Amino acid sequence: MGSSEPENGCDVAIIGGGIGGLATALALHRKGFQNVAVYEKSNSLRAEGTAIGIFANGWRALDQLGVGDQLRDKAVLIQGGQEILFDQDQPQNMPYPAGEARCVKRSDLTNALANALPPDTVRFGFNLVSLEMDNQSMTPVLQFDDGKTLTAKVVIGCDGSNSVVASFLGLKAATLVSLGSVRGLANYPDGHQFPPLFTRIKRDQGDGMVFGLIPIDDKLVYWFLTLPLPLLDGKFRDDPELIKDATLRMINGYPADAIEMVEKSDLDSLSFTRLRYRHPWEILVGGFRKGSVALVGDAMHVMGPFIGQGGSASLEDAVVLARNMAQKIDILDRCGVGTQIMSHKKIEEAFDQYVKDRRMRIFQLSTQTYLVGLLLGRTSFATKFIAVKILHIFFRDPSGHTKYDCGKL
Ligand SMILES: Cc1cc2nc3c(=O)[nH]c(=O)nc-3n(C[C@H](O)[C@H](O)[C@H](O)COP(=O)(O)OP(=O)(O)OC[C@H]3O[C@@H](n4cnc5c(N)ncnc54)[C@H](O)[C@@H]3O)c2cc1C
Repeated sequence: MGSSEPENGCDVAIIGGGIGGLATALALHRKGFQNVAVYEKSNSLRAEGTAIGIFANGWRALDQLGVGDQLRDKAVLIQGGQEILFDQDQPQNMPYPAGEARCVKRSDLTNALANALPPDTVRFGFNLVSLEMDNQSMTPVLQFDDGKTLTAKVVIGCDGSNSVVASFLGLKAATLVSLGSVRGLANYPDGHQFPPLFTRIKRDQGDGMVFGLIPIDDKLVYWFLTLPLPLLDGKFRDDPELIKDATLRMINGYPADAIEMVEKSDLDSLSFTRLRYRHPWEILVGGFRKGSVALVGDAMHVMGPFIGQGGSASLEDAVVLARNMAQKIDILDRCGVGTQIMSHKKIEEAFDQYVKDRRMRIFQLSTQTYLVGLLLGRTSFATKFIAVKILHIFFRDPSGHTKYDCGKL
């Protein structure tokens, strides 16, 4: 604990201003909660990863948050999938979830969520380094890297896959996978010719790499390259020029369209991420609430990108969490003028219900993602065989995850 006495912070402190944190703040705001603050370690909204695919379940959550339509205007409807193998002339149809699917620029998504919040809700430059519980008042105490300490009645950890709040709850660090992903955005000022499809390109004799592309609108195309490590390792992470050069080397021989797409990407759109996940069984048994502290998004359930659901699951979390809090906490208390002002008991009941409502959903998403990841990663034939069998038995409809409705806010 820092040497100075902790200051009284806000009622609800959200740690992390990514998709999960902003969506949670907006959901709470729309349910009438006041005195909510988002503490983000960066100095501005981050949009690492460039773009994000959102399926029908995510759009349902965005509609509940009131930002669905403005985002629909910025991203074309994706109408299917195709796969291009090197030794085949024609692309093959690839199963792709039915229902609404669009790929949205991450900055459009975070701006839409942040702009719908009251001014000054998001506080930048707050890097949480530890969280403790004051045992007398049962109040969480937040310590930031500049030595500042704050108290809050409620803390919601939305601080991503390397979460300080999750470790306070006793969760293990997320597991690193032997796969990484490069992502970028190609801009075609005169328009591009790509159909509104998710296109996957790979060599027939699997080298473990997958190049994917999805149009965002008629000028922008999002692409990614998933690759086994250590083909590209962590030292590339912070240098976009190295990321671009290494990516171009790795896709040498790929179709000219893919190479041109990487070449014309702005350096500031490029990122390299080492993939992480929580094992499905950790999701099944994890303690996701302690006192008035809970988790949302990757902090709770980081999963690989293989079924494209981590971000949408975070949006669903936000809706379900705010709904449960509003059901338990009186409107006057939400505004800080009631008689009880958010009693610990009510908050804990709300969080327990939230965890109960979310656990099986995120367990299913994590399990499916994990199994698909086993098929893509460097695993033995026997492991892949077992993964296919389990997928076949338990995930007979591979896109069933998009049909989920998190319900009304
Ligand atoms: C390669 C890749 C592709 C993906 N593609 C998709 C996709 O197509 N569709 C999809 O739905 N999902 C996708 N995902 C998953 C998706 O990106 C995540 O699930 C989503 O970003 C989670 O949001 P979050 O807010 O929980 O975490 P994050 O986006 O990681 O945000 C966490 C925020 O917390 C801040 N923070 C971290 N630590 C602290 C601290 N100590 N103090 C204060 N602030 C802190 C960070 O700066 C950041 O702003 C993909 C992931 C990867 C890696």
